[in-house]
Amino acid sequence: MTAATTDQGSIFPTACHDHDACIASALATAEDLCRRRGARLTAQRRRVLELIWQQHAPVGAYDLMARLSAMEGGNVAPPTIYRALDFLLAHGLIHRIESLNAYIGCSRPGTRHAGHFLICRECHATAEIRDPELAEAVQASASARGFSLEHETVELRGLCPACQTPEAEAHGGE
Ligand SMILES: [Zn+2]
Ligand SMILES: [Zn+2]
Ligand SMILES: [Zn+2]
Repeated sequence: MTAATTDQGSIFPTACHDHDACIASALATAEDLCRRRGARLTAQRRRVLELIWQQHAPVGAYDLMARLSAMEGGNVAPPTIYRALDFLLAHGLIHRIESLNAYIGCSRPGTRHAGHFLICRECHATAEIRDPELAEAVQASASARGFSLEHETVELRGLCPACQTPEAEAHGGE
């Protein structure tokens, strides 16, 4: 059984989860990982990662650029953002959500894995699935057809647990 490595049950953060701790832990993990790899997590790259971790929903490059510009009190050029995103992607600290052309923080950087996501169409909350069986099934399906898989992103769209409850409408989708 692979139950130990599979995150069954709800993987969406609940209202009572401590998001500040969540961000702090993601940044600490990133710093540690970069230190071990001898990669330079510059102040600006760290800020971009922090901005991406502000929410459990994907954020686009232009949104990030606007937020970083506001933080730094000046205009941040697109290449600056894209270079930071490239660095974070290369080190597996974030994932790109292809269908939304946006980015989300990775909750377990440092381990090679394909991106499998549940994306809520209502509040845009996005959760990364940790399911080795799903990864194996995708790999097996591709190789059974003689296809050499190079990049794998699975994006499943629907409603998160919070958006399925009737009272969800009371406190709005955003
Ligand atoms: Zn959180
Ligand atoms: Zn990940
Ligand atoms: Zn939702």
